[in-house]
Amino acid sequence: MSELFGELNPPPRLLMGPGPVGVDPRVLRAMSMPMLGQFDPAFTAYMNETMELLRQLYRTKNRWSFLVDGTARAGIEAMLVSLIAPGDKVLVPNFGRFGYLLAEIAGRCRADVITLDRDWGTVFTPDEIETAIKTHKPRVLAIVHGDTSTTMAQPLAGIGDICRRHDVLLYVDATATLGGMDVAVDAWKLDAVSAGLQKCLSGPPGSSPVTFNERVADVVKARKHIEAGIRPDDFVDGNAPVIQSNYFDLGMLMDYWGESRLNHHTEATSMLYAAREAVRLVLAEGLEPCFARHRLASDAVTSGLTAMGLDLFGDQANKMPNVTGVVIPAGVDGEAVRGMMLHDFGIEIGTSFGPLRGKIWRIGTMGYVCRKENVLICLAALETCLRQCGFSARPGAGVDAALAVYRTAERPSALL
Ligand SMILES: *Cc1c(COP(=O)(O)O)cnc(C)c1O
Repeated sequence: MSELFGELNPPPRLLMGPGPVGVDPRVLRAMSMPMLGQFDPAFTAYMNETMELLRQLYRTKNRWSFLVDGTARAGIEAMLVSLIAPGDKVLVPNFGRFGYLLAEIAGRCRADVITLDRDWGTVFTPDEIETAIKTHKPRVLAIVHGDTSTTMAQPLAGIGDICRRHDVLLYVDATATLGGMDVAVDAWKLDAVSAGLQKCLSGPPGSSPVTFNERVADVVKARKHIEAGIRPDDFVDGNAPVIQSNYFDLGMLMDYWGESRLNHHTEATSMLYAAREAVRLVLAEGLEPCFARHRLASDAVTSGLTAMGLDLFGDQANKMPNVTGVVIPAGVDGEAVRGMMLHDFGIEIGTSFGPLRGKIWRIGTMGYVCRKENVLICLAALETCLRQCGFSARPGAGVDAALAVYRTAERPSALL
């Protein structure tokens, strides 16, 4: 007789790290809905609705806006493996951990990868990117929008125009920003973008919303190949090199999500329900109000931390509103504070990677978790943990400052 483990009973946590974050209960409810066959008209209607919702979220007319099954990295791989043929030159302006990831994946696609590096905590100017494009003449520019590892958001307006001028395809990883700040795909001329659910979309990890335009669709069509067994008799393969992955072949995914509904994988039914509901909730709130909620939380968190005598990390002009980097004060053991936050208060905050390991904490205010009460609870808990670990802030200073930010927003007349 093998031993049975206990029933799953995860401890309730307040997830205020850089993701995953607490899932909206309405998304969890959607995930408990009954299975449908993947070609049931009721299900294909949900697929089409999801595509339409994604177009609104990404602010695009792109026909090709759908889900890649898997976490955010699945969307990144689908985009890069479908765009990059072996030997293609790919430029990655790298300002954090996820820039390295793009370079790594592009390398596995056997691209000739050129990275442009910056100190963590800063971003690139459009001029720096244009100069590098002129020097290296890449076919693809792959860049992260918001890099949670450094809390910075790379401004993208203008980069798309530069890429069009030099006939470069622009791919953007918007995992950490989609739903938390504007990702204006058409206005910014982004050719291909991917994201995940577990940041500002308040869903679980496991589905990657992507969008791409006809420039990308043309590249993919030239590489088109359909697997034997489902290939129509009259189908002729494209001339360009076949895409190196079956699962992430955007051409076959387009045939599955498009009118031909050619069988590929079985769409992850419950994850589609989750994504559809997660995106629907953001749109129901309204994009602008949702972005404003994230900005307000960022103002409150940064005011609170500053009032506690802590230093914020990175170039504040380019800080993402949904995650805040804060310098671990000298003499304080950062992991001891994080441990206390989790074990005594049930609150998760993040550490960081690479050059920032042990130097900063990251406090996320993303999606469903991005609420006044969570901000205040987190600051109050942090004050106590810091004091017990040897750093004393003025009692109440953090919560008072954050609350003042919320009060001002709640009663704009208080400003007058
Ligand atoms: C969180 C994050 C990811 C995460 O990818 P997963 O496969 O979902 O773990 C990727 N890119 C960026 C920019 C992120 O912030």
